[in-house]
Amino acid sequence: MSSAPPNAGPSRAPDGGAAGSLARIASARRRGGSDLGTIAPVEQASAPKSDAGVALEVEFRSATKRYAGTDSPALEALTLDVPAGEICVFVGPSGSGKTTAMRMVNRMVEITEGDIVVGDRSVRDRAPAELRREIGYVIQQIGLFPHRTIADNIATVPRLLGWDRDRIDARVNELLDVIGLEPELMRRFPSQLSGGQQQRVGVARALAANPGVMLMDEPFGAVDPINREKLQNEFLRLQAELHKTILFVTHDIDEAIKMGDRVAVLRDGGRLAQYATPAELLMAPGDPFVEDFVGADRALKRLALMRVADIDLWNAPLVHIGQSTAEVRAKLEGAEVPYALVIDQERRPIGWLSEADLARETVRARPDTSPDPILELDDVMRDALSDLLQAETRYAPVVDAGGRIAGVLSVEIISEFLTSEDALVEEHSAGERPLEEPAAEK
Ligand code: ADP
Ligand code: MG
Repeated sequence: MSSAPPNAGPSRAPDGGAAGSLARIASARRRGGSDLGTIAPVEQASAPKSDAGVALEVEFRSATKRYAGTDSPALEALTLDVPAGEICVFVGPSGSGKTTAMRMVNRMVEITEGDIVVGDRSVRDRAPAELRREIGYVIQQIGLFPHRTIADNIATVPRLLGWDRDRIDARVNELLDVIGLEPELMRRFPSQLSGGQQQRVGVARALAANPGVMLMDEPFGAVDPINREKLQNEFLRLQAELHKTILFVTHDIDEAIKMGDRVAVLRDGGRLAQYATPAELLMAPGDPFVEDFVGADRALKRLALMRVADIDLWNAPLVHIGQSTAEVRAKLEGAEVPYALVIDQERRPIGWLSEADLARETVRARPDTSPDPILELDDVMRDALSDLLQAETRYAPVVDAGGRIAGVLSVEIISEFLTSEDALVEEHSAGERPLEEPAAEK
């Protein structure tokens, strides 16, 4: 008979909504002459009538970059589509051409061969200054102007676009709210903010003119791990509302899997190794390089992207206190789960019936075996697996938000899922996946 020891505590909430003060990051570098400095001001009249705000598809068509004086390309014939409104993460070892690929989109790096199409227009036909106003850009070093206030930094592109003062002020206030910074901070200078706060301002500045496309080059790379995770989570929540097309560079495979709707794995020589959803990448790495890059724990990483609700649970025979055990035995014949689960009037699990319980005439109010651990539909699958393993129990009841039985989970069900076709299917876009709050914030 199943022996589920009554140990594991209550299931943890995957998303505790933690907040806390940000650590000051002394190492966050600030650069005076940011790349945004190359943007030329324009008259309002000549400002492009707006695609602003509408997410655009970005299409690489055999895009190749050879830097002057080098033999081998930094990026070799990259072909891929980033659908409008999705996050595409470029990941790969240092020097694999990630930054090059990204900078070709707004022509900070000129394309040697091939093309990149944003919306339905080739970037080759666009003035670089115009592209840079229309495409948001966030970098690791933040690149805030040190001698301008936070408000002025955020207002950079709207000002270049010739917005009037009231509109700019309103937008700055709106963006401070979006990134969760106190309005008072807008009069401060970048060095008076923590690294995490500065990074948020960098995101706000890139969003200011409501671009359809954002380029983010290791945007959270200079921030400590806890704040980094917070920034990632905030950004995913923001993206779930904004639906921008985002090209995001990182060298960290975990960040790529967490942030990407799709992930482009680049390898040495600027070659694309695989372009796939995180689920595909984890379950079916295209070659040994990708397999090695995603890591030996790829099945566990896959489970971190899912909730218990995402897989088909099994059913145990459900029985009530006072029911005749003859009936229960009949129900157990050929049941998916070979143990009977006692539930109360509200369908909440009370316990599993043991052989001794079944030897009685009727189902007793206190079955021998505790129902713990009780899992929730909302639990992150990786946490559920760890609860199952810790409790050394074969089956665990899964309940809905009201504590009512929804099905049964087991290690066996999870492992069957991981070897099935279903595991290849990505259930959630990046903005809808479970988010684990930083450990220290729990
Ligand atoms: P990643 O961002 O993946 O680290 P990069 O795109 O920065 O890679 O660089 C790709 C390759 O191109 C590297 O070999 C790098 O040394 C080279 N490279 C980058 N920028 C330049 C440049 N301005 N001139 C010459 N070579 C460059
Ligand atoms: Mg780079």
